[in-house]
Formats: sequence, C-alpha cells, structure tokens
Amino acid sequence: MLIKNKIALSFFSILIPLVNISCKRNPSLKKNLSSSLVSIEKKYFGTTADGNIVDEFVIKNKNGMEINIITYGAIIRSWTAKDINNNYQDVVLGFNNLKDYETSNPYFGAVVGRYANRIANGKFLLNGKYYDLITNNGKNHLHGGLRGFDKVIWDAKEIKNDSSSSLELSYLSEDLEEGYPGNLKVKVTYTLNNKDELNINYKAETDKSTIVNLTQHSYFNLTGDFEKDILDHELLINSDTFLPVDSTLIPIGIFKDVTNTIFDFRMSKKIGFDIDTSDEQIKHGLGYDHCWVLNNQNSGTRFAASVYEPYSKRQLVIYTDQPGIQFYSGNFLNGTLNTKTTGKYNFRSGLCLETQHFPDSPNQEEFPNVVLEPGETYLSNTMYKFTTR
Ligand code: BGC
Repeated sequence: MLIKNKIALSFFSILIPLVNISCKRNPSLKKNLSSSLVSIEKKYFGTTADGNIVDEFVIKNKNGMEINIITYGAIIRSWTAKDINNNYQDVVLGFNNLKDYETSNPYFGAVVGRYANRIANGKFLLNGKYYDLITNNGKNHLHGGLRGFDKVIWDAKEIKNDSSSSLELSYLSEDLEEGYPGNLKVKVTYTLNNKDELNINYKAETDKSTIVNLTQHSYFNLTGDFEKDILDHELLINSDTFLPVDSTLIPIGIFKDVTNTIFDFRMSKKIGFDIDTSDEQIKHGLGYDHCWVLNNQNSGTRFAASVYEPYSKRQLVIYTDQPGIQFYSGNFLNGTLNTKTTGKYNFRSGLCLETQHFPDSPNQEEFPNVVLEPGETYLSNTMYKFTTR
C-alpha cells in the first residue's frame, strides 16, 4: 500500500511540473483550464422596504450562459440562452429593481412554497386537525400565502466544482408561518454546468407533520423580446392525462385523458393553436393554467416537457422527478408591469412550466402524498436544459 502511494506520489510530482511547463510555454492552455470553470460572483442588488440587504449572484458558464439570482425569493432575475446564431439573450421575465419585486411580482422567477399552487378554501386536515392557511386568491390559498417563499430573504452559499458552480439558498420557515404547521428547514440549490443545464435540487426537513410542494416559477419567453407573446412557441408535454379544474382553478378530482382534447401536447403543438377556443376549461384560466400528470410516475428524474421557439430556434427541455407540471400561459399578465427595458409585460408574454405535486393534494385522496413527517427528508429535482435546433 505504502509502496503504491509512493509510486503514485512520484508519478504526480513528475506530472505537475510538466503541466506547469506546458502552461508556461503555451499560456492559452492555462487560460483554457480556468475558463472551463463556471464562475460565480456576488454583488449588491438592493435594500428591502424594511431595511434588509438583498444580494445578486451571477453564475456564468464557459459558453456564455449567465444566470442572475437574487437572495429575495431565491428569484432567477435573468437567464441568457443562445439562439441559432450564438446570440445570448435574456429569456426570463423579471424586473430591474427590488421595489417591483416587493410590490407587484406575479412570482416571476421565484421559488414558490411552502405549498406551490392552490389549496381549496385555504384549509386542510392533517392527523385529525384542521389547519387554516392565509387565503390570497379569492377563497383559496395560492403559492404559500401572502408572504410565501417568494417574498423572504434566503441565506446564500457559493459552491464551486470542476465543471459547475452552485448557489445554495437556505430558509427557515417557522411553525405556523402563513398557517403551516412545523418549523421547516428548506434548501434550494441551483447548479449551472457547461452543458447549459441548470439543475435545481430542493430539500426540506420539519419538526412536526406538515405539507410541502416546492417549485420554480420562471416565466419564459424564448424569443428574447419581451414585447412579443409566447403563442408561436411549440410545446410538448410528456403526459397522457391532465387535471380539469373548477372556476377557481381547483382540480375537480378527475384524471382526464388528453386524447381528442385541446390539452393533448404529446406531439409538439403551437401554444396559440387551440388557446382561444370556447372550451370551458380554457375559460376558467383565461387560457392554459392546468396541471398535467406526467408519464412514468415514480421513475426518478425523466423527460417532462420541451418548448421550441421557431424564429430564434431556441429550445428548452425540462426533466423532473415530480408527478406533475403546471403549464400556465401567462393569462393574468395585462400590460401593467414594467419589463427590464422600457416596455410592459403584455397578455401571454411569458409561459411557466412548473414541476410540482398536484394542486390541492392535501384535500384530494386520489393524489400522491404531500405530507412530510419529522425524521423524513423532502427531496426533489428538476433540470432545465437549453439547446438550439
Ligand atoms: C398559477 C396561475 C397564477 C400564476 C401567478 C401560476 O402558477 O397557476 O393561476 O395566476 O401562477 O400567480
């Protein structure tokens, strides 16, 4: 063993000077080695109305993809992706200043929780006890309540690896915050690599039985021009069934086959193709605002959906281990919010593909379990990959 180590040591002591010599002779080699790293930098973004500092982390890979994440809401504020001509443009909706995020953010880029999506009447029964959550969407609870995970400041830690960099964001959600039982320790880790893939890993632990459903709420517009709508984007969803909803967007408890419906995205289809039909389900959400049941449940992280934009030829592919995906076609955007440049975000100028558990699961017996017990760990993974084609 000792001899083996000695041989290994002397092998490396020969190799290291050799690498150094060749780097000296050829300075571009050293540059290449360091430029293959994914960089991560921290800067000041703003101060909240109640005086807390918010930082922004800029993660950049060797290709030029750049993702800006702020500690407020764990929000992805901008994300560049290349088009077919190698032009990197920002493809997610967001704001230039913290004030807009604090006052009027429809969840642009945020991590949403403790329970993403709706819970009917803000009520659920757990271990024989009814819990009342804040209702912030008519009579329902939406996306964690009035001060959900999208409106709190997260602690940040940078992690650098050989070919990726991560930002680990942590938050402690206290017992009965927005009505949820249990102190919940949450961790969200964003990891960008040199394959233009962003991996998002979620982890949570509790000290009392509670419910958890976390997602990322980025609104994408792959044209890179936020004045345009997303109706020409071509969408494919790996799902044979969706969950019809009532007029308040709560699932009615039926798993409906997508065959011969406007909800069939098993073959890539322009989002605008069927969106303005008189279908009752479309009326409820003013467009698509539904959860699809992903195929191959319980088989780990697998292909969930892809979106292709035919002019820039950008494509986003999504993989997840979650049971569902909420496709929301930006129907509540109405031209009042400022873009990051000079314009306004108009009707359907962004689309969300939120990987998650089904809406209202705590009240629907047929839906997969969302209860987290003390001693258990909630883990979930989603990967977004950009390409062109
Ligand atoms: C919901 C929409 C909601 C939007 C912004 C989406 O996840 O499905 O109904 O309007 O988030 O809050």
